[in-house]
Amino acid sequence: MQIPADLLRSLKDTKGFNREAFLRVHESGEQVTSLRINPLKPLKDVPFSSLHPTSIPWSEFGYYLPERPSFTFDPLFHAGCYYVQEASSMFLEQAFRQSVKENSGLKVLDLSAAPGGKSTHILSLLPANSFLVSNEVIRSRANILKDNIIKWGHSNVMITNNDPADFTSLEGYFDVIVVDAPCSGSGLFRRDPDAIEEWSLQNIALCSQRQQRILADVWPALKENGLLIYSTCSYSKEEDEQIGAWIMKQFSATTCPINIDKFPGIIESGGGYRFWPDKIAGEGFYLAAFRKTEETGALDLKVKNWPEKAFNKEVSILSPWIKKEGLAFIKKENTVYGWPEPFRNDFSFLLNKLRVIYSGTIIGELVRDKMVPDHALALSQLVGPDVLRYDLNYQQAIQYLQRKELSLEIKDKGWQGVTYEEQLLGWINVLPNRINNYYPKELRILKDTPD
Ligand code: SAM
Repeated sequence: MQIPADLLRSLKDTKGFNREAFLRVHESGEQVTSLRINPLKPLKDVPFSSLHPTSIPWSEFGYYLPERPSFTFDPLFHAGCYYVQEASSMFLEQAFRQSVKENSGLKVLDLSAAPGGKSTHILSLLPANSFLVSNEVIRSRANILKDNIIKWGHSNVMITNNDPADFTSLEGYFDVIVVDAPCSGSGLFRRDPDAIEEWSLQNIALCSQRQQRILADVWPALKENGLLIYSTCSYSKEEDEQIGAWIMKQFSATTCPINIDKFPGIIESGGGYRFWPDKIAGEGFYLAAFRKTEETGALDLKVKNWPEKAFNKEVSILSPWIKKEGLAFIKKENTVYGWPEPFRNDFSFLLNKLRVIYSGTIIGELVRDKMVPDHALALSQLVGPDVLRYDLNYQQAIQYLQRKELSLEIKDKGWQGVTYEEQLLGWINVLPNRINNYYPKELRILKDTPD
């Protein structure tokens, strides 16, 4: 692996940079594998317990694995029981836990959210009565984000596909904004050596300008005393400390120090925190948090166009499928969404303002006097206790996830959930002469066997 000479030169005086150790760790070929468990879908054991996972110090939910197993061939991965995520990025948790003071009612924006590592993490960290707007500007990436958020199983979330500038008018709306900025990506060279080809000093300058533009666009949407968490996977000061300095110069803000006494190897630098792969087990990463100290105007939260609500008759069709309590039922054509009732006003308001591609949880499709359940319902926390479930063994679960035909001896006919180790994977419909597999085609495992 040939680290660009320009990069090495530019890092010379960067805090914590040790050229020899940095080169050694890149040349070693060593890879770090880590995952973060989903507290909403607790398991008896940490995933891959036979490999002896070890805890990641800065995340209650994070674990290192000594080798990379086949996640694709683990049904619990598809059930959303964990997310495979780079370890340094999980430091977001410390910014959140140490700097967010409120213990309920937060409105959080994750501005650059795909594929969903930070968003799923934020959902696990949110205090009661809070919700997340998870945004991704690139449409194709927004779809991947949607799949991952659905898998994670929360309903207190909206997924949007907007440009940062579309948030400018939401003055003072959010309590926390996370900007995990698009960057030059040098922090991931060890994992993805091909990224070296795209690296250049010119690109750093472009990234830095773009980061400033994004931050200027979104800053008005943060409320007074609100928290901005800024991060990159770049080693370059132009995208890290210098962006922090720019924020402090441009806006009224204070930095929010994060106590790192328990995390040897993380380097404080310019009010932010640097992760060097030769000092911690993880990839290159930078994170800094800022508190807004300027007043913001008051936003009128009046909803112009309310979304259509489901009729009582329709709700009674859904009832056998779900835990109804605390939900509002919103209809878009025949599709019914479950929204947490306390957010009905906010979700409706945002629906008027942003390009929302998903919200709450899709319950299903009303077809005459019946409901066809949606895959999202199976992965959510909303499935009612009386819904039939059939437990699959490992082979059957993989066949289900490959969307193959299933031959199972099932007494009860009709729609039911299939589970693996008690975790719902999706739906089947048991007919008198066959079983229809409703695992979504676009999510199915394409390979026959693990590599
Ligand atoms: N937060 C994500 C996670 O933890 O999984 C990773 C985000 S990645 C570092 C940066 C994201 O910014 C990408 O998804 C990219 O599509 C998006 N992006 C690209 N250009 C952007 C722009 N001009 N404004 C906002 N986001 C942008």
